[in-house]
Amino acid sequence: MAKIATFNPKIGYPDKWKDYSKVAIRREAFFEDYLAARRFVVEDDHGTIGKPVDRSRWDMTPPTSNAYYNPLWNEIVFPAGILQPPGFDNHAIDAVNYGSIGVAIGHEISHGFDDQGAKFDYLGRLRNWWTDNDLKQFQERGACVADQFEHYFIEPGVHHNGKLVLGESIGDLGGAKLAYMAFEKSLEGKPRPPDVDGFTPEQQFFIAWAQWRGDAIRIEEQRVMMLADPHPTGKFRVIGPLSNLPEFQQAFSCKAESRMVRPADKRCEVW
Ligand SMILES: [Zn+2]
Repeated sequence: MAKIATFNPKIGYPDKWKDYSKVAIRREAFFEDYLAARRFVVEDDHGTIGKPVDRSRWDMTPPTSNAYYNPLWNEIVFPAGILQPPGFDNHAIDAVNYGSIGVAIGHEISHGFDDQGAKFDYLGRLRNWWTDNDLKQFQERGACVADQFEHYFIEPGVHHNGKLVLGESIGDLGGAKLAYMAFEKSLEGKPRPPDVDGFTPEQQFFIAWAQWRGDAIRIEEQRVMMLADPHPTGKFRVIGPLSNLPEFQQAFSCKAESRMVRPADKRCEVW
């Protein structure tokens, strides 16, 4: 609870703008532009050495379509770039926004309590703040998720490394659950929103996550991801967490033997 209470959200853009006036960008020189941008980032980082820590700094630029959790500062950061369709849309219905940016927000919060983030305490100090019993149960629950992803293949013999993708997968599982709870809470005391194209609000929530997260990606790139990327492929970032959620089974009235319903003894729940 203390760690949740000290979470610092950063949204949109930093309070202090960085000065990019010395970065030379030319429309016809992509490679040189790239190097100039890299050089700026390195020099900007070096500029912090020997100075007091500046907690207003961001690790991503405002137009970046991504987000991050920084365990050292216990902060979640959402640049403006991710706060546009299909991640977030001011004109979209709630089910869609909760199912996309809502899950992403829950994902970043859950990073504070994944296999890596959980090693840092509420002040961002790398120290064990867990009771022995809690830690044991947490690791057992994590092992369930790691085992789940070990069984996801992109082609025969090439599968996810469960330990490598564990943090991101705990993030997705916790994020989907948190955002769904938040969505249900948002419906309380209001008239029920209408179905859209025959889909209930609950179904729209899950479809939104799948439509945002799903992607088309070459097999060569997927092979690289299996070896080196802590993120599972988009397909398994949808199938993995949602097949663990009883809420998904309920929303789509899936039979117990459905492929999108993990059997009770294999169903993972970390948070
Ligand atoms: Zn993540």
